[in-house]
Amino acid sequence: MNPLENIKVKVSPDLHDKLPRKWKKIGDIIIIDFKDIYEDKKKQIAKIYAEELKVKTVIQKNIISGELRTPDKIDLLYGNETITEISEYGVKYKLDLAEIMWSPGNTGWRSTLAGPEKVSDFYSFNKPKVIIDYFAGIGYFAIQMAKGYPKTKVIAIDKNPKSIKYLTMNCKENGIENIKIINDDCRNITSKADVIHLGYIGNTIDFLEHAYSCLEENGIAIFHEAYHNEWLGFKKRSDWKGIPVNFSKLMKSKRFNVEKFERVKFYGPSTSHIVAILRKN
Ligand code: SAM
Repeated sequence: MNPLENIKVKVSPDLHDKLPRKWKKIGDIIIIDFKDIYEDKKKQIAKIYAEELKVKTVIQKNIISGELRTPDKIDLLYGNETITEISEYGVKYKLDLAEIMWSPGNTGWRSTLAGPEKVSDFYSFNKPKVIIDYFAGIGYFAIQMAKGYPKTKVIAIDKNPKSIKYLTMNCKENGIENIKIINDDCRNITSKADVIHLGYIGNTIDFLEHAYSCLEENGIAIFHEAYHNEWLGFKKRSDWKGIPVNFSKLMKSKRFNVEKFERVKFYGPSTSHIVAILRKN
């Protein structure tokens, strides 16, 4: 029996149609939406989910917002520990889900050179001396890039001191020594790089001008963002090939040529999280 069937056996039948069928398991914690469950039943049902899914904590799904992409408020349905550890493609990440976000949909992509072929191809750079990660967080991409390019100096920047605390711990835990960690706004850092990684969604384009000024001649920016499928010119699955014309034009206006383009995941209705390699021209 699948976990939901096992859960149903322990819950009164009149509540079955209200039980969430989906959840995000992050380390030994789940994030789930209990909005349809009656207030007086939440804790009891959360305990059943926790036991069935073998997790120590159940957190109500909430909005991730603000410039630093932090959870709005934390509503614990079961348990009280919010620090968890995730193992992904040979890297261990520790973080506090009450303070910092984790995107399960980026699995594979976060793993850069250690990831699936499509991802490792994408993240294959030609002997970079310096890589800067502008939105390093707890080390999502920076740690794998530092592992994959042991002779490269990786500069990992994040504005949120709480992320920096976990980034420092995660570098140590994974034995990474070629990362320099900076707690600041990435636009205050003027170091030069061969590769600048922009792992952000929302207004990534606002950071491109600064990235341009920090890139060496011929350097590349790895640009993550979300766009409407229609703007990208994608109506059906078979359209997902090549580089969208609108995107190319937009990047040309920012003095970049688009060399590669991929979709990472769906990101809300009719919207996709995309990633591109942009060459400075
Ligand atoms: N790519 C990640 C993943 O795989 O789950 C998620 C990216 S994370 C939410 C974005 C990070 O950018 C946050 O840690 C936030 O603190 C940081 N950030 C936001 N604005 C920034 C800025 N201007 N300079 C540096 N870091 C910034």
